[in-house]
Amino acid sequence: MGSLPRDPHCIFCKIHAGEIPSTVVNRADGLLAIEDINPRADVHLLVIPEEHIETFRDIAHLSEPEAKRMLDFVAESAKQAGLEEYRLMIFCGAGAGQTVPHLHWHILGGRFHGIPG
Ligand code: 5GP
Ligand code: ZN
Repeated sequence: MGSLPRDPHCIFCKIHAGEIPSTVVNRADGLLAIEDINPRADVHLLVIPEEHIETFRDIAHLSEPEAKRMLDFVAESAKQAGLEEYRLMIFCGAGAGQTVPHLHWHILGGRFHGIPG
C-alpha cells in the first residue's frame, strides 16, 4: 500500500507518519488501528490504510490482495480488542457524514452512544 501521494493537510496521513499522536491498538504494513479521539461506543476504533484514498468510492485503488488484507486487519483488530460482536461503519462522502476525507473503518463495540462524525 502507499502508491498514492500523501496529502500534507490530511489528519490521517499525519497520524500514519507519526506527526499527530494516537493510541495505536494494532499495526501492520500500511495499516493502523487506533482509538477514536471522540468515542461513540464503549470501544471505538478506526482502521486506516496508509494510502490516501479519499472515500470508499475509490476503493478500486487497492489491489485485490490489499483489499483482502485490509478486511482481515479489520476483523483481527476487533478480535484483538476483545470484541466478538460489533458494528462496522464507513461514511462515504461529506454528505453522508464523512468528516475526514481519508478512507477509514469505524469499529464500534459494546454500548453505542451515537453515530460517529
Ligand atoms: P468520519 O466522520 O470521517 O467517518 O470519522 C472521522 C473520525 O475521526 C471521527 O469519529 C473523529 O472522532 C475521529 N478523529 C478526528 N480527528 C482525530 C484525531 O486526531 N485522532 C483520532 N484518534 N481520531 C480522530
Ligand atoms: Zn490522508
